[in-house]
Amino acid sequence: MRKRVKTHMFRGRRFQIMFGALPRNWLGYVSRTDRKLAIKSGVKGLERLDTIVHECLHACYPDLNEDAVNDGAGDMARLLWRLGYRDTFSDEETET
Ligand SMILES: [Zn+2]
Repeated sequence: MRKRVKTHMFRGRRFQIMFGALPRNWLGYVSRTDRKLAIKSGVKGLERLDTIVHECLHACYPDLNEDAVNDGAGDMARLLWRLGYRDTFSDEETET
């Protein structure tokens, strides 16, 4: 069984990785101040992959505007999806 990912380094800064409940219209968020990256539990498939890539881009490149992050994350997630990358964790395994 794979170990749960609790932290990750983005450009030399360690972020806490969390999966759980978020406000209704949010799929994820990143706070560089708190060094937290959160993904809403229950989001699945390509949308989940897109959300993870999206928040990773925010963590790495805080100067990028939302449109650039949206476009880039969508393009990257779709390629990863086409190449067969899938999330095999269930929410229970990843929730904090
Ligand atoms: Zn965003």
